[in-house]
Amino acid sequence: MKVYNTLSRKKEEFVPLEEGKVRMYVCGPTVYNFIHIGNARPMIVFDTVRRYMEYKGYDVNFVSNFTDVDDKIIKKAIEEGVSAQEVSQRYIAECKKDMEGMNVRPATAHPLATEEIGGMLEMISTLIEKGYAYPAKDGTVYFRTRKFKGYGKLSHKNLDDLQAGHRDIQVTGQEKEDPLDFVLWKPKKEGEPYWESPWCQGRPGWHIECSVMSKKYLGEEIDIHAGGEDLIFPHHENEIAQSEACNGKAFAKYWLHNGFLNIDNRKMSKSLGNFFTVREISEKYDLQVLRFFMLGAHYRSPLNFSAELMEAAKNGLERIHNGVDNLEFLAKNSQEGQMGSQEAVLWQQSQEFVEKFEAAMDDDFNTADAISAVFELVRFANTHTGEGSSKEFLENLHGRIGLLCGILGITLKQQEDILDEEIEGLIAERQAARKEKDFARADEIRNMLLEQGIILEDTREGVKWKRA
Ligand code: AMP
Ligand code: ZN
Repeated sequence: MKVYNTLSRKKEEFVPLEEGKVRMYVCGPTVYNFIHIGNARPMIVFDTVRRYMEYKGYDVNFVSNFTDVDDKIIKKAIEEGVSAQEVSQRYIAECKKDMEGMNVRPATAHPLATEEIGGMLEMISTLIEKGYAYPAKDGTVYFRTRKFKGYGKLSHKNLDDLQAGHRDIQVTGQEKEDPLDFVLWKPKKEGEPYWESPWCQGRPGWHIECSVMSKKYLGEEIDIHAGGEDLIFPHHENEIAQSEACNGKAFAKYWLHNGFLNIDNRKMSKSLGNFFTVREISEKYDLQVLRFFMLGAHYRSPLNFSAELMEAAKNGLERIHNGVDNLEFLAKNSQEGQMGSQEAVLWQQSQEFVEKFEAAMDDDFNTADAISAVFELVRFANTHTGEGSSKEFLENLHGRIGLLCGILGITLKQQEDILDEEIEGLIAERQAARKEKDFARADEIRNMLLEQGIILEDTREGVKWKRA
């Protein structure tokens, strides 16, 4: 299996640190709002990486944090007049709902920054002891960037270029030894959440969180560290500096980064107004469609989100569902049990699509080509099955499509349609409401049914209904 490593800028053969095991850390969202569809990309992409690694037999320890203390969270809390914790807990819960809708499995652990402060104080103290960090007069602790010899190795930046970039922002009065130094711990401001520390009452910088949580839940050396490409610099570069300076070991072996999601070919941003939350998308589409759309592109390519492309993804997913429905229908009505000899040959042939799928995924998780292999398998199943097919053959093909879709996190079960009995029950309830002159409730039921595509017709013989 080959993976593209941002560190070497090459595709490398994946060799885990420990045989059969993968230790993987994915930087999670800052929780001050509903997650947007850009945040959904690393979730979907790296959940698929995890699923594929498990399919290949690895035991994957998958850790993803929530950044639950941050300027944006505090700002939102002040606006609403509630605590920062209330804001972060609310949006963690909402984020988990969205993850479920997108079929993103919960991580092995979802640590919260605010619950790991002790570990952060420890790591910062070690860095100070080793001469890699220093407290300034106001209690801010900085990392001494130039002291860490490997600085810039992930983002492929050299220190002098970075220095040049910093020249115009060398604020006077700053207590940094060097403009390249970055914050590990900062003093609280009035009204902000804070923790006691040897340097000042304050809170951690963002980068130290991930170094500490990764170490605690996965150990000093991990196989894969991942996130969106905007995190390469400075976030991941700083994580490497902190972890390697503290632990004296290489931090992560492979660094994986997803490309950005744009909207209508423009950068997604709140100020441009071209901004969608996952929740908004869920009002129009099953979130499986969003997942299918995301996996239709290679994870490192930029991906453009548009209504047309979502419709195309919806149609593509429907094609798979239709193929599967067809197999289920045939299997239910088939007379023959066992596969015939011709079917056995075809079944062997269909293995070719599994091999195509694996070859695509082994090549740095090329989900776009993997989806093509699924389409080919569905087409093959459509072509080679019919009323005379055996149950075994139909079920085998169904299972094979289900297996490949499952690796991509695509479920074959569609949203259950409302059952006839439920409809009859609601109609009876509506009639009773009308009898009691509770017309509001009666209308509510009519609208509820309408949303499910059920149209009611009041006739002289009683209420009739049909599916739209
Ligand atoms: P944040 O909450 O900004 O720290 O982002 C959480 C994750 O979402 C990080 O891995 C980001 O790199 C990723 N991310 C944010 N915006 C986008 C985007 N437009 N496209 C792809 N990934 C994104
Ligand atoms: Zn991180």
